[in-house]
Amino acid sequence: MKLLLVEDSERLRDNLARGLRAAGFTVDVAGDGMEANGYLAGYAYDFMVLDLGLPRLDGFGVLRALPSGGERPRVLVLSARDQVGDRVDALNAGADDYLVKPFAFEEVVARLHALARRPSETHADVLEHEGVRLDAQAHRATANGSVLQLTPREFALLELLLRHRGRVFPRADILERIAGSESEASDRSIEVVVFGVRRKLADAGCASLIENRRGAGYLIP
Ligand code: CA
Repeated sequence: MKLLLVEDSERLRDNLARGLRAAGFTVDVAGDGMEANGYLAGYAYDFMVLDLGLPRLDGFGVLRALPSGGERPRVLVLSARDQVGDRVDALNAGADDYLVKPFAFEEVVARLHALARRPSETHADVLEHEGVRLDAQAHRATANGSVLQLTPREFALLELLLRHRGRVFPRADILERIAGSESEASDRSIEVVVFGVRRKLADAGCASLIENRRGAGYLIP
């Protein structure tokens, strides 16, 4: 699997590159964000291990330059910044996972393997997860085999989060995607929709699936 390592500390970069190659990855290295963008424009990567504090263009700049859909590497951010806000910002900017320095090398590899197993966003008509089955074409959702009576917004929310599993959606994003431009919709109405989906899943004997990341938004991990 092909991996781009972006880290400005030469010592850490060399150590990580050596370890990742030993772990079976094909590794390219970049020392700043501009160099990283050059590699990303020219080659396809399965993974990117990305430092946030970088010269010339920082890690957020690299994340923002990634295409929002289609082929893109799964991104593990490594950063000395351990504030919740930084983690949330990185995840919202498109990082798939976040590891705070200092870290154990084994954990980097373990996180990458976990990312490799995580299904990426899918355009499939049928989405299945933990006993829940949603058929987007037929507009039908079931949990443990029984039909879920979802409102249009509840259905749209469940579809959105199942389709992009592992990705955190801020409320404003969800609102825009499931309520369109309807003016009466608010953050509060998102909570009502989330509550409705969770309750109906629970009634069907399923895990409630939807998690709330405080201050960040909702996801199905
Ligand atoms: Ca750095």
